[in-house]
Amino acid sequence: MRSGLPQPADNLGELEGYHSPQVDVEVRLNTNESPYGPPREWVGEVVGELERIDFNRYPDRSARALRQALAESHGVDASQVFVANGSNEVLQTLFLTYGGPGRSAAVFEPTYAMHSQIGHQTFTNVAVGQRRDDFTLDLDEAKRVIGDASPSLTFLCSPNNPTGLAEPRETVDAVLDLAPGLVVVDEAYGQFSSWTALDMVGDDIPLVVTRTYSKTWSMAGFRLGYLVAAAGVVAELEKRVLPYHLDTVKQAAGLLALRHTDDMERRVAALVEERDRIVQALRELPVDVWPSDANFVLFRPRAASGDDVWQALVDRSVLVRNCSTWPRLENCLRVTVGTPDEDDRFLSALREVLG
Ligand SMILES: *Cc1c(COP(=O)(O)O)cnc(C)c1O
Repeated sequence: MRSGLPQPADNLGELEGYHSPQVDVEVRLNTNESPYGPPREWVGEVVGELERIDFNRYPDRSARALRQALAESHGVDASQVFVANGSNEVLQTLFLTYGGPGRSAAVFEPTYAMHSQIGHQTFTNVAVGQRRDDFTLDLDEAKRVIGDASPSLTFLCSPNNPTGLAEPRETVDAVLDLAPGLVVVDEAYGQFSSWTALDMVGDDIPLVVTRTYSKTWSMAGFRLGYLVAAAGVVAELEKRVLPYHLDTVKQAAGLLALRHTDDMERRVAALVEERDRIVQALRELPVDVWPSDANFVLFRPRAASGDDVWQALVDRSVLVRNCSTWPRLENCLRVTVGTPDEDDRFLSALREVLG
């Protein structure tokens, strides 16, 4: 019998240093999840739905009911909605459809690391542009990168993870004019922001807006995300995704969640209020703070190393995201907005650490 394992493909990119260590702590503010669960009534409705599902049958392959309901909630057509297991699978399907060997994707760092990560995994060339020092997008830089790489996918993230600000509408407009392929606006935190690119989508517009149930809907454990785009784009994605990728339970649960939009909006409003309180409190401390339109805040201790502060917070049972080894984010930490109690724990631990 032959022994030894074959070499895997060389498509890991720069995975190292990206994963978020799960440390056993009391206050977990590192992965931008909601601190609140979804409504109990929704859980009851999902359990009721389980009784009615024909588990011996494959799911509705085109997820018609869920897509129709999402389309109605955004005032678009069901043919303009694509659903998948988390918005990461949505992004992966975009790469499988429009990326690949011989093609390029453009990203502007610092930004969500999975955009370039999935690019590498699909053997897409990743062209990297740099944001300005305040992390806003420099259109001259965008023009240079897009001109050089001629990307079939250009990514914006609004609000941008991990830096916090939404892209202004004029920026999305300008990038749409510059880019030769699809412009993808990742709106994982869209409901925290004061504007959305969703109403710019149209059947002859090369614009894609991605959304997720993970953050604003409090359903990160569920793995459900979607995009809104031209019907022609959605039809191409449907040809590339695995058949029956979205199970029946998830389709039903995602649809039922839409009955509780008011609830979601109340949770979002509470988190926005808490976010602004955290920003105010951080401004009184010896740290640089970046403004945020999302449910997290990026900050940098002025006189201590990010690693040391991160560890000192862990020692006080508070876990935040350590971004200090990421390019351009030396010594930066990112805190997710939690419940008022959790945020108080974070702030008092940080005050103690910074002396
Ligand atoms: C969290 C996050 C996602 C991933 O969402 P899932 O739906 O959980 O896969 C996508 N984009 C950004 C910018 C995120 O921060």
